[in-house]
Amino acid sequence: MNRRDFVRNSGITAAAATILPSSSIFASEKVEKVKIAMIGVGLRGQNHLSLLLKRDDVDLVAICDIDDRMLTMSKSMIAKSGKPMPKIFTGDDQAWKKLLEMKGLQAIVISTPWEWHKEMIIGSLQAGLKYVATEVILGITLQDHWDVVQAAERYNAHVMMLENVCYRRDVMAALNMVRQGVFGEIVHLQGGYQHDLREVKFNDGVKAYGGGVEFNEKGFSEARWRTNHSVHRNGDLYPTHGIGPVANCININRGNKFLKLNSFATKSRGLHNYIVNNSSESHPNAKVNFRLGDIVTTTIDCANGETIILQHDTNLPRPYSLGFRVQGTKGLWMDVNRSVYVEGVSKPHQWDDQKAWLDKYDHPLWKKYGDDAQGAGHGGMDFFVIHAFVEACKRGAPTPLDVYDAAAWSAITPLSEQSIEMGNETVDFPDFTSGKWMSRKPIFALNDDY
Ligand code: NAD
Repeated sequence: MNRRDFVRNSGITAAAATILPSSSIFASEKVEKVKIAMIGVGLRGQNHLSLLLKRDDVDLVAICDIDDRMLTMSKSMIAKSGKPMPKIFTGDDQAWKKLLEMKGLQAIVISTPWEWHKEMIIGSLQAGLKYVATEVILGITLQDHWDVVQAAERYNAHVMMLENVCYRRDVMAALNMVRQGVFGEIVHLQGGYQHDLREVKFNDGVKAYGGGVEFNEKGFSEARWRTNHSVHRNGDLYPTHGIGPVANCININRGNKFLKLNSFATKSRGLHNYIVNNSSESHPNAKVNFRLGDIVTTTIDCANGETIILQHDTNLPRPYSLGFRVQGTKGLWMDVNRSVYVEGVSKPHQWDDQKAWLDKYDHPLWKKYGDDAQGAGHGGMDFFVIHAFVEACKRGAPTPLDVYDAAAWSAITPLSEQSIEMGNETVDFPDFTSGKWMSRKPIFALNDDY
C-alpha cells in the first residue's frame, strides 16, 4: 500500500496527515545531524544509547548520570561503537543542570526515575531546547502534568514521551486495521501493564528494600526507586504502555477525549508473600505495609462513546501480557489469545489465529523499517520510538506523540489514586488541550518516514 492509499484508507485527509516543516519552529535551520544529550543512562537509558550510537544522523554530545556502575557500562558501549566519547556530567543529582548549559544542544533524552522527569523536562525547556524526549511517565501529580504542558506551550517546544508500545508490530497492525475500518466503529478497548515485577522490585534479594529507609542504596536499577512507589501509593502506577496504543486507535486529544475514570484496587498480598517466601516472617521487609493493591482496575469513559478498561498487575506471579483488546461493531482483536474475529469473514463464533490478519495489515512503517528494527529492544519497537523522535527533530516537525498525549496518558495515575482514595468515586479528566482536542487531527504513524 502506498502512502496515498494508506491515508485514504485511514479516513484521514492528506493535509492532516502531512507533517509540514513550514509550520515548524526550525523551518529556517534544517539540521542533518542532531546534537543530542542524555540524562539518565541506567538500564533503559542504555537501551536508547545503543540505538542513538547506531545512527549517523545523531551526534551524542553529552551524558549525565550519578551512578558510577551505569556510567561505566555506558562508556564501554560508547567506546565499542567507535563514536567519540561525549562529555560526561556526574557527581551529584543536580549535575544535569550543568549539562543543560552546553551550547548548541538540540535535543535531550531523559531516562531517569519518574520523580525526576518533570523537573528535568522543564529545566530542558528553560534552557532553550526545542525537542525533549522523556521516558514514561510524564510526572507524578496532576499539577506536574499541567506544569509540563504549560511549559511546552510557553517555550513553543516539543515534548515527546517515549511510549514504545505504540510501535509494537501487532499494535500497529491493529491500528492499521482500525483505520481501515476492519473492526467497524470502535466501541471498547482494553490494555494494561501486567508484568510480574517482584524480582525487579527486590533485585538484590529481599534485602533490597529495608530498614525503614526511603530507598535502598544497595539495590540495582529500579529497586532503588520503583519499590518505594509500591509502599506509598495505590493506583495504576504505570498506565502508558496499556493506554497509549488504545488511545491512538480512538484519536484521543485529536477529535476525542478521556472524560472520566474510576479505579478499584484489590488487597495487597504479592510483595509481602514474596518477601516471606524468600526469607521469613521475621525479615524487616515483612513489616513493610505495601499500599499498592496487587491488581488495580481502571475504567475510562470517552467523549465519542467508547469505554476503556486498564489493569495494573505487577506484584503476583504471572507471565507478561499487556492484555490488549480492540473491539468494534464488526469484530475485535485480542492479544492474550492472539486472535481476531471479523463478522462475515471469520467462521461464525470462531476465533481466527491473528497471524494472517496481522501480516495482511502490517503497518507501512514496519514494512519499511522492520530490518532496521531487528535487534532493537522489546521486539524492535524501541527502534521506532527513538527513530520518530530523531526524525521529527531533524525536520523541525511536531513529534508524533506530543505533550498532550503524554499528559493525558500519565494523568491516569494521579486520577486513579484519587478515585481509590475517595472510595472508587468517578473523577473527571482535565482537558490539557484546553479545547484544542476538538479540532486537532491525527498524526501518529501517518507519514512515510516515522
Ligand atoms: P534505572 O534505575 O536503571 O535508571 C535510572 C538512571 O537514572 C540511573 O542510572 C540513575 O543513576 C539515574 N539518575 C537518577 N537520578 C538522577 C539524576 N538526578 N541525575 C542524573 N541521573 C540520575 O531505571 P530504568 O529501568 O532505566 O528506568 C528509567 C525510566 O525508564 C523510568 O521512567 C522507567 O519507567 C522507564 N522504562 C521504560 C521502559 C519501556 O519499555 N519504555 C522500560 C524500562 C524502564
